[in-house]
Amino acid sequence: MERAVLVRSLSCSSVSFNRLFFRSYHRLARSYPSSRLPPHNKRLVSNINRRSALRHHWRRISSSPSPLYLKRCFSSLSPRAVATSPKHFSSPDVGGSQDEVAEKLGFEKISEQMIEECKSKAVLYKHKKTGAQVMSVSNSDENKVFGIVFRTPPKDSTGIPHILEHSVLCGSRKYPLKEPFVELLKGSLNTFLNAFTYPDRTCYPVASTNTKDFYNLVDVYLDAVFFPKCVEDLQTFQQEGWHYELDNPSEDISFKGVVFNEMKGVYSQPDNILGRMAQQAMFPDNTYGVDSGGDPKVIPKLTFEEFKDFHRKYYHPSNARIWFYGDDDTNERLHILSEYLDSFDVSVASEESKVKPQKLFSEPIRIVEKYPAGDGSDLKKKHMVCLNWLLSDNPLDLETELTLGFLDHLMLGTPAAPLRRILLESGLGDAIVGGGVEDELLQPQFSIGLKGVSEEDIQKVEELVMNTLKKLADEGFDPEAVEASMNTIEFSLRENNTGSFPRGLSLMLRSMGKWIYDMDPFEPLKYEKPLQSLKAKIAEEGSKAVFSPLIEKFILNNPHRVTVEMQPDPEKASQDEAAEREILEKVKSSMTDEDLAELTRATQELRLKQETPDPPEVLRSVPSLSLLDIPKKPIHVPTKIGEIGGVKVLQHDLFTNDVLYTEVVFNMSSLKQELLPLVPLFCQSLLEMGTKDMDFVQLNQLIGRKTGGISVYPFTSSKRGREDPCGHIIVRGKAMAGRAEDLFNLVNCILQDVQFTDQQRFNQFVSQSKARMENRLRGSGHGIAAARMDAKLNVAGWIAEQMGGISYLEFLRDLEEKVDQDWDGISSSLEEIRKSLLSRQDCLVNMTADGKTLTDSEKFVSKFLDLLPSKQPRETNLWGARLSPVNEAILVPTQVNYVGKAANIYETGYQLNGSAYVISKYISNTWLWDRVRVSGGAYGGFCDFDTHSGVFSYLSYRDPNLLKTLDVYDGTAGFLRELEMDDDTLTKAIIGTIGDVDSYQLPDAKGYSSLLRHLLGVTEEERQKRREEILSTSLNDFKEFADAIEAVKEKGVVVAVASPDDVASANEDRPNFFEVKKVL
Ligand SMILES: [Zn+2]
Repeated sequence: MERAVLVRSLSCSSVSFNRLFFRSYHRLARSYPSSRLPPHNKRLVSNINRRSALRHHWRRISSSPSPLYLKRCFSSLSPRAVATSPKHFSSPDVGGSQDEVAEKLGFEKISEQMIEECKSKAVLYKHKKTGAQVMSVSNSDENKVFGIVFRTPPKDSTGIPHILEHSVLCGSRKYPLKEPFVELLKGSLNTFLNAFTYPDRTCYPVASTNTKDFYNLVDVYLDAVFFPKCVEDLQTFQQEGWHYELDNPSEDISFKGVVFNEMKGVYSQPDNILGRMAQQAMFPDNTYGVDSGGDPKVIPKLTFEEFKDFHRKYYHPSNARIWFYGDDDTNERLHILSEYLDSFDVSVASEESKVKPQKLFSEPIRIVEKYPAGDGSDLKKKHMVCLNWLLSDNPLDLETELTLGFLDHLMLGTPAAPLRRILLESGLGDAIVGGGVEDELLQPQFSIGLKGVSEEDIQKVEELVMNTLKKLADEGFDPEAVEASMNTIEFSLRENNTGSFPRGLSLMLRSMGKWIYDMDPFEPLKYEKPLQSLKAKIAEEGSKAVFSPLIEKFILNNPHRVTVEMQPDPEKASQDEAAEREILEKVKSSMTDEDLAELTRATQELRLKQETPDPPEVLRSVPSLSLLDIPKKPIHVPTKIGEIGGVKVLQHDLFTNDVLYTEVVFNMSSLKQELLPLVPLFCQSLLEMGTKDMDFVQLNQLIGRKTGGISVYPFTSSKRGREDPCGHIIVRGKAMAGRAEDLFNLVNCILQDVQFTDQQRFNQFVSQSKARMENRLRGSGHGIAAARMDAKLNVAGWIAEQMGGISYLEFLRDLEEKVDQDWDGISSSLEEIRKSLLSRQDCLVNMTADGKTLTDSEKFVSKFLDLLPSKQPRETNLWGARLSPVNEAILVPTQVNYVGKAANIYETGYQLNGSAYVISKYISNTWLWDRVRVSGGAYGGFCDFDTHSGVFSYLSYRDPNLLKTLDVYDGTAGFLRELEMDDDTLTKAIIGTIGDVDSYQLPDAKGYSSLLRHLLGVTEEERQKRREEILSTSLNDFKEFADAIEAVKEKGVVVAVASPDDVASANEDRPNFFEVKKVL
């Protein structure tokens, strides 16, 4: 249930929350893969992404896998596998000191360093026989991390590295099942499990807090990358990469493949196309000039031979960098590795995989590209323009890089940052594009531009960018802004709050950014010295002397500039589809009858294989924990519920490294229904409009100087067994313990002193929100579909949709006109929202910190509460609205669909039991994965059960199908009824569910989850009861659940975000099935 709670909160909060808490420091602390050149990932990141799909850093995460079927015994398939069969020496004589052990196991110690910044000892080894490099980081962090990374520079845009990343996790020598990856998702306690493809490397990380589980994960991953079945099995390549599909010789041939469809989705999003164009144009001469993810037009040119060669060449220890991190035994790490590495000899891979630097241009260039746009939308203001610079011929030293990161934060990191602010205030476009400084590739880049621009304004945008940069170089930055950026960056470096991302993984990615280019892997972990020297330099010489030369050298006087202009083209989507059809027709016409019969047979064979489960004995090869390894009690979060001045205060006494985290919660229930869609803009206004004494720039700088960030966002959810929904506004903030007073003063200032008078800024908020919603529609249609279905099924869903779905987008479009006509009216509506929210009686405070900080902060809380207005309890507004429960198709110019179907299963009489968590996870990872993804060719397919509302929903992601996917959903109850399952499988399903429920949380997240449980009325007794139900789930529960979800088939409502062609043909097949709504 914890998970469900979090999901709900994130779906409402992520935009504002992430911006303040993560966005601002991601260049320096770099906890996440690069934001502009996204790695492609293995799977859709759990439920969080499913629902919200808003989280910046996860949004490109995807999934993959693939199966293969073992026709022959694996060892006879792979000569290399045979030659390198592992020696199972269980416990060789490797006692002794760490160095002696390393030596005995064949590792040479290169360097050993203490990293004060993360309180760790880090040792770099080289495996003598193969040259594999290993970084072994030991400390007290229980969230252990392993990763193996290969340099995989592609030569073309066929997507080889990406398809390989998906495919190696589809069975290996020791684990010869269809998808060990999925088995691990189902049955391990992992706190992280995924894989990423970067433009030049492929990364396989896992994490767990349970040591036995951790080593299981490591072994499965090592076996997968070194001895995958996919290099012997054409069908895995076809399934994950591409193949022709033909069900019947009389039908049309189509392209299928998980990566193929994933990338079609990517190429349907203008922002993604822009990023790819820019990268390729900036690096015409090296590997970054092609797309490692794969261009759907080029993917079908890839052959199986090339695919196998690529693996043979690059997935070799000589080309590997391996990372271990955490509190486990460092000897055991080397021991596990040596079993794998010793099977190989040295290769030349590491020479061949080196990335060559791109030489700087002597002149700027400009490229113009079209992107697919809907024909209904106003195309005039839909152009995009982005200026990109390659900053240097060679990699930069760490101090320069750190200074550039700092400069990036100063120019773009907050709403008050001048480059961001001036571009948005110009009114020339709706939202920023380009990610600022990017330093995850060999050479750093800088990109900035606008979207939602009129064609005639493009030139003006370019001039404005150049002039603003020049002005910043000439005049320097406001000292208060410099101080605010410095504090924000230092705070986040020291807090090292990586959210749900393991800290060890964040460090690994940071280190890898240099290590992968044969530079010092320790250096990026040690920020303290360069940071202090930068601070000293700024103090001594002034910030202008530090930053202006950088702007001049790297940007203004740098001829390596690529300007990318993107034009909307309503024809492009259908042209692309027509071109694809033409290719396929040609292929078909060149085939003989025998060829067609053979293709039909191969199509069926592949599908049969995909849909046939692995035999139990093969499944058992994947190591798993037993139920005895599972704690019987839920994770305890210390919670003291008390009162300060008559207001309820929750306190969580946890070690937070001297940071105070707090949430101040207000009840929304007295808000008038028609004001609900204004709430997100109200929240943004609180932070970004300024007070009587301070403009918003000063206010933002003050927040930056005194705190670690403040965010404001709505939170809504159904409450189990209640008609009325839970609706709150949450103000979330953090600061060093010594700044608690400042933090509460600032929260008070935001809530009470901000003035809703700046019409121009409000206008920008509206345009930005509109641009963001339009982007979500294309990239995260599943989130939009889920919100829409919820809005048809319950009031909380309706509210959320008003504040973040299609209804919200429609509201924003109307509002854009209204701002100019009736600003006074809007301004007073914002004031009215404030008035109905702010009330001592309806307030709740949540605090997470160590006991002393909590006690010391109480007086500031008390003062804060005294300043809140007291109100007579007023009537609660009964928001009674829901959307009409008709099937809807939302038309979007895309080549792939997002298909959803949902119903409230509580209405059938189903009573919540913990087994539902096990069962819905199982359905996602078996039935839906196999049918929607593996054989259907979608990038993802899953179900979600909101235990608060009772809504059970199915969703697909980047799906080539529409009605076919609905048929799969409708078959779920049948699947459950016929399910046979041995004890092993059931145990894995239970353990995997516990892994989700117990997902690793940093202290602030623990305190926050506890707050949400409080708001939703989830008690400790209930948590214990659900846990016991989870642990005692039986096969019979699965059968009974079938009856409950039969309701989705019978009465479920369907919402699809889909391409116009697919919707038209669906409505032909089933007349009037969809009510059609055109949004883009
Ligand atoms: Zn992928």
